[in-house]
Amino acid sequence: MKSDTPTLSFEFFPARTAEGRAKQVITRKQLRQYRPSFFSCTSGAGGTTRSGTLQTISDIISEGIPAMPHLPCIGMSKEEVQELLNEYKNMGVKHLLALRGDIPSGLGYCMEGMRHASELVELVKREHGNHFHIEVAAYPEYHPQSRSAEDDLNYFVHKVRAGADSAITQFFFNADSYFRFVDDVQRRGINIPIVPGIMPIANFSKLARFSDSCGAEIPRWLRLKLQSYADDTASIKALALDVVTDMCHRLLAEGAPGLHFYALNQAGLASTICQRLGF
Ligand SMILES: Cc1cc2nc3c(=O)[nH]c(=O)nc-3n(C[C@H](O)[C@H](O)[C@H](O)COP(=O)(O)OP(=O)(O)OC[C@H]3O[C@@H](n4cnc5c(N)ncnc54)[C@H](O)[C@@H]3O)c2cc1C
Repeated sequence: MKSDTPTLSFEFFPARTAEGRAKQVITRKQLRQYRPSFFSCTSGAGGTTRSGTLQTISDIISEGIPAMPHLPCIGMSKEEVQELLNEYKNMGVKHLLALRGDIPSGLGYCMEGMRHASELVELVKREHGNHFHIEVAAYPEYHPQSRSAEDDLNYFVHKVRAGADSAITQFFFNADSYFRFVDDVQRRGINIPIVPGIMPIANFSKLARFSDSCGAEIPRWLRLKLQSYADDTASIKALALDVVTDMCHRLLAEGAPGLHFYALNQAGLASTICQRLGF
């Protein structure tokens, strides 16, 4: 899987205000210097951010950078998903992240809809052939709802065999979990690029909440050390930058095909990491 020219990509979420949208334009301008393969935009399950995601994707395309919408299928009917796929196709989108998603509490569940990302991958392949480059999500530390590591690996393999072209991982802070995951899926005959998802750490309490809900582990030593800095954000950022940059360095040196940054509409930390890595 070693790549001579690792890919870089950066993830955004839909801005809620005109001011936020204008700020995103500046952020993307700053990140363009790293020649990203694409910018992506998240989408709330059940179509909750539909117009915001479409707007962001349209903005990215108008800036001349390939755009990748995230498409969580849960909570939507197949017809709604088809409609959205056609809309993206008409906008010139050629790359998407096929997801199951998590239904926000209080939102109705669509009984006729799809239950797993593999069904969405099948639908995209069946209806659109090779038009879309299909990414899927991967979990080096396993998905929090999986019954076992073995089950999760096998479902991942099934999702890839349904037609995925590459994968982006959930964030992690333990490079060994990534390498183990890649080895395990390769042993099962899967050789698609699996790009590590990188979370630059800006705020410890937010990160801890998010990590607990998505099953991404913060190593004990790092958690305790970050916790000990309390409100000292400068120290949190300094340590986190060192830890995350060292991990990215190792990931690329040992064969990761690229890095996908959970930039969260901010250029600063992702940009510093890219510079430290020599991009
Ligand atoms: C890079 C990245 C970006 C993301 N962006 C978004 C976003 O924009 N919006 C959003 O809502 N969420 C997003 N997520 C979160 C994701 O939607 C959640 O993690 C969700 O819980 C699982 O989605 P999935 O596509 O991995 O699901 P799946 O691949 O369907 O897996 C979900 C669970 O079901 C199990 N499973 C899979 N297939 C089967 C089967 N046939 N039978 C039984 N069990 C099965 C798996 O083992 C796993 O435990 C993102 C995640 C990543 C890694």
